[in-house]
Parts: sequence; structure tokens; C-alpha cells
Amino acid sequence: MTSSRPPARDAPAEAALLHLAARLHGPRVAVLRDGDTAWWAPSVEALVLGVREAGAGADRALRAPILVGVEPGPSARALVQVGAKRVRVVGAVAGPVSALTWRAAGPWAGAARRRAAASAQWLSGEDPWEAVGRLEAAARRTGPRWRQDLPVAAVLVDGEGRAVLGARNLGGSNRVLHAERVLLEAWRAAGRGPIPAGWRLCVGLTPCRMCAAALVDAATGPLDVVVAREDPGRLARHTALQASGWERPRSSSG
Ligand SMILES: [Zn+2]
Repeated sequence: MTSSRPPARDAPAEAALLHLAARLHGPRVAVLRDGDTAWWAPSVEALVLGVREAGAGADRALRAPILVGVEPGPSARALVQVGAKRVRVVGAVAGPVSALTWRAAGPWAGAARRRAAASAQWLSGEDPWEAVGRLEAAARRTGPRWRQDLPVAAVLVDGEGRAVLGARNLGGSNRVLHAERVLLEAWRAAGRGPIPAGWRLCVGLTPCRMCAAALVDAATGPLDVVVAREDPGRLARHTALQASGWERPRSSSG
């Protein structure tokens, strides 16, 4: 090694790792290195969701940059803001890579999606805000604070005002499984397609950037997102829902 190279960031090694990952697993691979382990998945979303679902060591692993060959979209970037640290687009360059254990995050992401979908509840017309309160009361409040589910729930309401589907936060076991994401996983698992225009989502807390981006992606047209409590946090500001004008406080009536 020459001394002219900045030691803080080993860019050639990152490029080599990504190159190898892309050769093994395809050009759209997302990869991150945690010591001797290289986690990979077919997308940034599956990588973050999967490493979180695998549990122990997720916080440490996700402090490393997520390496990708192509620029991720706004939804993936918002997910990284909530569930990881940063994503770095690295041009693929050939080079040596030390012996690594490859771990696929994709199956873990699949397990997270199935677990989320199974935890949501299909509803038959009960009052949406009563359902929000009931689901929030079911949040896991034992163990250390960082392992607890936040008492936040989301309930999807159809064009006639009937509650259809409810979900609550599972963040205690997987930091990116917010109530809105859990709800969307159940919706998709049921093969329901895009959310019809004019439907409503009643949610306990302001959707964060990750969930806002996912909800905008999932809806065909305007979704009336009604928020019971305002989240003062940084990640609940400047979201895609706020930019679209689809979000309003519950106190605004309707
Ligand atoms: Zn969220």
C-alpha cells in the first residue's frame, strides 16, 4: 500500500467487495461488511429489513455503509435513514477481497415480511380510532426500552368509512417494522394491489419519512392520512406524505 491513500475510508476495498457481490449475486445487489461477514440482499430494502430481522448485532452491522452499484430510490433512502446509517454508491472495480462469510439477508427479509403480515388484523367495520387504541394497547412494553414496540397503530379505512385492516408497531424486534410498514406488508401479502384512491389511513403518530415514502408508493391516488399525535422528531418532518398534502391532524375533523 502507498502512503498517499487516505486511511479513513478504504474505497478500493469497498469497490472490490461490491464487485465480488455483484458477480456472485447480480448487478443490483446491496452489500455491507461487518467484520468477516458480508451481508447481501437483492435490494437495499431487503438488506436493512433482513439484517434487522436476524437480530443480534444488527445495530453494529448497520453502522457500516451499505454499498450499491446503482443509485437507490427515495423509498430506499428513507428506509436507510430510519433503519441503518448510510448508503454509498460505489463503482464496481475489480480487486482482491479477503476470505468472507457471505450471509444472505433476503430470507430474513422474507421472514420479517411474513411475520409482519401475520401480526396485522383484518377488520370488519369497527370504529377506526377504537381499533387504533386497541392495537396500540397491545404493544409489547416489557424488557429494555430499545426492545419495546412503540405504542403506535395504523388502521386502513375504505371509501365507505369501514375499517379494513389494522396493524401495530413491531419495532422492538425489528426497528424498521413501523405500524404503517406492517400494514402494507399484510396488504401486499393478501395480493391486494395498490390502495384505492380516496381511502383513509388513521394512524396514532405522524408517519416517518420511511413510512411516508412507502405509503405514497402504495397508493394509486390521494390517501387521506389522519394523524392522532404529532411526532416532534426529525424523521417525521419533510416527508413525502406532507409534500403531497395527504396528511392532516385528527383535530382537523372528518
Ligand atoms: Zn415509520
